[in-house]
Amino acid sequence: MAKRNRVIKLFLLLFATFFISLNASNHLKSIKIDKGELKLIFENKIRKSNISTFTLNTPYRRVFDFKNAQIYNKDLLKNLYAPYNTKFRLSQFKKNIVRLVIESDKVFRCSHYSPILSSNIYNISLPYPIGYNKNSNTQSKPKPKPKLKQEEVKIVKEEPINIKNNDISELPWYKKLLEGNSKKNINKTKKSYRIVIDAGHGGHDGGATSGGIKEKDIVLQIAQRVKRMLLRAGYTVYMTRDSDHFVKLSNRTKFSNRRKADIFVSIHANAVGKNSRANIAHGIETYFLSKARTARAKRVAAKENRALLSRKDYHSRNVILNDVINGPKIILSNKLAIDVHNSILEYTRTLYPNTKSGGVRPAPFWVLVGAQTPSILVEVGYITNPRERAKLRKASYQTMIAKGIVKGIRKYLKNRERELN
Ligand SMILES: [Zn+2]
Repeated sequence: MAKRNRVIKLFLLLFATFFISLNASNHLKSIKIDKGELKLIFENKIRKSNISTFTLNTPYRRVFDFKNAQIYNKDLLKNLYAPYNTKFRLSQFKKNIVRLVIESDKVFRCSHYSPILSSNIYNISLPYPIGYNKNSNTQSKPKPKPKLKQEEVKIVKEEPINIKNNDISELPWYKKLLEGNSKKNINKTKKSYRIVIDAGHGGHDGGATSGGIKEKDIVLQIAQRVKRMLLRAGYTVYMTRDSDHFVKLSNRTKFSNRRKADIFVSIHANAVGKNSRANIAHGIETYFLSKARTARAKRVAAKENRALLSRKDYHSRNVILNDVINGPKIILSNKLAIDVHNSILEYTRTLYPNTKSGGVRPAPFWVLVGAQTPSILVEVGYITNPRERAKLRKASYQTMIAKGIVKGIRKYLKNRERELN
């Protein structure tokens, strides 16, 4: 009975998490014109069911409504030069509907879609090609045009929702948004990247223990090195724990989600049971949340998940995990895992050229479930292996691991920025 209650509680928790994430507002973060298309960049995946479109006549207008969405910044259209005889209007049409209107002097065929692998972007084709000029009737080089008239670029209130003077800056959700984003600039500065570092275990949960060394201590030392380096590099860093105390697995991702983290990195040390492999197994492994495809990934996940459930719940835990690990962040988490993993090897091998790569692997870790952000778990080495254990205690080796994690994070962020620009 107790077991069944626990399973029911877990389902409720997961259901609540999903319900919240489904209904959470998606912010429209920026708009660009790229290759003759309008490119709308949202914070999160845009669901097709949340988009509706229709046309109006005299003048001809193509209207798009994005449900469960909010405008991130009222200056989104400010630096956007509309092509020939085209006008854009953007409004917070209703509290949770963003409306985009494309006005044209002619009826045009409009294709609109999310590019593959970029489910947070929505492309809309425009009536005239960029640089179109009626007089020459050919495509010419785009000339810098004068800014659109104020009336065309400001946020238009098409239905009164208690906004004074069309000003969304007085709306509570907008104020709240700005609290965390004092910079209105859409291009994130380093400072505005929020990175959560999660040192595994803590307090009564020592994690793996071997040769008098506890996983919880090693990983906290490494996590603190990572924190200091990231702070020095100018990032905003949050630690799920910064001392030796216990933090529930579910609270670690909640912590991350509340702080709207851009990246979540959990740091652990590996171990194998008392068998013939105990002295042999070694190497660094990096995991991202997904179904475990290998026995090793399953074993490591079971070990790290232990803090949540007792052994007898193993089966029900797997059933639940299999249902929740198909989130949209998997591809990004995989990319982050690859960047961090390779960078750790690059640095640790400057000290120990034979440092083994255990690879980048998918695994169903509880600590990564529910993270609305690219999330990985690094197993920095086996403390059951005497040689690796000795290395992991050394400040110089911990520093190399930390440097690798930081470089991997920077590389990942740089690549995402390049993709957006
Ligand atoms: Zn661990």
